[in-house]
Amino acid sequence: MSELLQTPIEFLKGVGPQRAQLLQKELGIFTYGDLLHTYPYRYLDRSIYHKCSELPYIDSYVQLVGTIDNIKEVGTARFKRLSARFTDSTGSIEFIWFQGGQWIKQMLVAGLPYQAFGKAKVINGVWTIPHPELTPMNEVSKKAGFQPFYSSTEKLNQKGLNTKGIEKLVQHLFFQHDIQTKEFLPEHIIKEQELISRSEALKKIHRPNNEIDIKQARFRLKFEELFFLQLEMLIRKGTRIQAIKGHVFEQSGELLNQFYAHHLPFELTNAQKRVIKEIRKDFLKGHHMNRLLQGDVGSGKTLVALIAMLIAVGNRFQACIMAPTEILANQHYETIRELVKDIDIKLALLTGSTKKAARIPLFDALEKGEINILIGTHALLEDPVQFHNLGFVVIDEQHRFGVAQRGKMWRKNSIPPHILVMTATPIPRTLAMTFYGDLDVSVIDELPPGRKPISTIHRFDSHRLALFGFMRKEIALGRQIYIVYPLIKESEKLDFNNLMDGFEAISRSFPMPEYQVSIVHGKMKPDAKEYEMQRFIKGETHIMVATTVIEVGVNVPNASVMIIESAERFGLAQLHQLRGRVGRGAEKSYCILMTGYELSKEAKKRMGTMVATSDGFEIAEVDLQLRGPGDLMGTQQSGILELKIADLSKDGEIVNSARETAKRLIENDPDLLLPAHQILREKVITLLKERPNWGTIG
Ligand code: ADP
Ligand code: MG
Repeated sequence: MSELLQTPIEFLKGVGPQRAQLLQKELGIFTYGDLLHTYPYRYLDRSIYHKCSELPYIDSYVQLVGTIDNIKEVGTARFKRLSARFTDSTGSIEFIWFQGGQWIKQMLVAGLPYQAFGKAKVINGVWTIPHPELTPMNEVSKKAGFQPFYSSTEKLNQKGLNTKGIEKLVQHLFFQHDIQTKEFLPEHIIKEQELISRSEALKKIHRPNNEIDIKQARFRLKFEELFFLQLEMLIRKGTRIQAIKGHVFEQSGELLNQFYAHHLPFELTNAQKRVIKEIRKDFLKGHHMNRLLQGDVGSGKTLVALIAMLIAVGNRFQACIMAPTEILANQHYETIRELVKDIDIKLALLTGSTKKAARIPLFDALEKGEINILIGTHALLEDPVQFHNLGFVVIDEQHRFGVAQRGKMWRKNSIPPHILVMTATPIPRTLAMTFYGDLDVSVIDELPPGRKPISTIHRFDSHRLALFGFMRKEIALGRQIYIVYPLIKESEKLDFNNLMDGFEAISRSFPMPEYQVSIVHGKMKPDAKEYEMQRFIKGETHIMVATTVIEVGVNVPNASVMIIESAERFGLAQLHQLRGRVGRGAEKSYCILMTGYELSKEAKKRMGTMVATSDGFEIAEVDLQLRGPGDLMGTQQSGILELKIADLSKDGEIVNSARETAKRLIENDPDLLLPAHQILREKVITLLKERPNWGTIG
């Protein structure tokens, strides 16, 4: 970056030390360069004039030409306002000032033609512009252009740095200085993508003359931003694969053959077969595997994980699988134990509730290599857990683990074990490419055959009686039912009371001994939780009232009804995951979303989406549109989301082409050694230094 752009913002005309401090704090603008890279979020075409009689819609920005009269102070002494009538050839509207009326009154000249600009409102049934921006027509510059809008904050506003104020600073920057910006992209990419130059884009993004300028500038800057992100990912991935040796699992393994021949409970789906092939290929390469397995709820990820673990064990390595909750770990243990019961293989379970007395022999056996597969929770990460020869790690429902936790697994062997992380529900493609762009990705895009579709129904609270009738019918048919309540940190106490009230109401309507009702929530002791879970799994209770502790992974095939209370308070991914708890057996299943009548637009969209589709990939895309990437990926990973201009929920196509372009580039010139790639190389090196730790998940 040139020296000029590194000048502290304080020295720009119109800034000074006080405003500089605010700009740093509020918008992260420290230098001229930072200001240059603070882009407008929208523009207004100032060449268009509206008519008083045809204002487009409430809150639209409008520009008018006309004259002012009827200037008067209105309201009470405590709430005084200045108002004026503004008239053009088509009619009149009102102007109003809530503050500064005294001063403005003196400035206004009745009968003089003004250009007026502002946000159109309807106040007391009359079109009104509060605090219009007024310029006498003889002072309006001929060149209208597009007016940029910059994000500001309350504090900046108070210091005169609203969007207009920031626009002025940017103008100073361009007027005072000959801004020269370096081109980062090589000529061949600029040509191929039909990009305008970087310096042209930076000028146009702040001061476009027309729509085309805006489009070109945005495209260029978005492409550049996403391209560097993808390039960084690919380089990290390449470096990791080259630098980190991996265990080689050469044999197909007697164990696996046995399992395939005699113990596979069903034919694998084609998608499962394909993914297993991808994993086996990685196991043979001698490089470290870091792979993300994406698949919808119920697509059979566990079986894929088990088969991969059997390959590791067949090659005399240990394997482990880590789940985010005890319930889930227990369940994996039970499922896997059942699947391998006739195979000579030693399993163990380790969770927070494993007793001390049991731990000592377990750790001992693990270190001696007598345990082949260890199944558990975060407890696996603890230091006393030492393996004899850990070769492969599966991390289930990876979004529940932090990066640091996952990193710990790497260090459980001198050569890091191969890593497979699995998602609970699909992640939209653009996000997967961006967040996990340095991982290899496998996708199970097919559900096992014979699944009966789940009927999803949205009902209002007032239908509860009918709902109870339906529940009784299902129970009479021998089915079991989940009822899930939200329990959110911010409103924990209230939510907890709701849950308990709900439990009581259900217990009253479904009385013992005819009906058995269980409850499971996060505040219960692990053994109590496990006890209730087991009762439900064994079919001893009919109804399970729970919080989202049952959200991930729980598998009770006889449960055929999922009722979600206050469904409007759940996100789409959560709703989909919850719905995935039913439809696992042979019976027709139902998911019933209970809400109040009053729903926000977004809540309506969520309910509508759930009713309309059960495809997790589709739901993930809607979720991204509704929530945006930051919320979707959680704060843990949001650092990478500080994108300046690209929007992962809207710019999917640019992400794709940036990825492809970066891929081709790396294929042709892996170390960026060509002279044409010199600047790229420098830029990438800085990027890698800026984020040294990010990217190694798993
Ligand atoms: P998820 O991908 O959500 O973790 P699971 O691994 O729990 O899904 O699998 C869901 C259910 O599907 C399990 O009961 C499992 O036994 C079953 N299943 C897995 N693979 C197949 C298959 N190829 N054919 C039939 N059922 C399968
Ligand atoms: Mg699972």
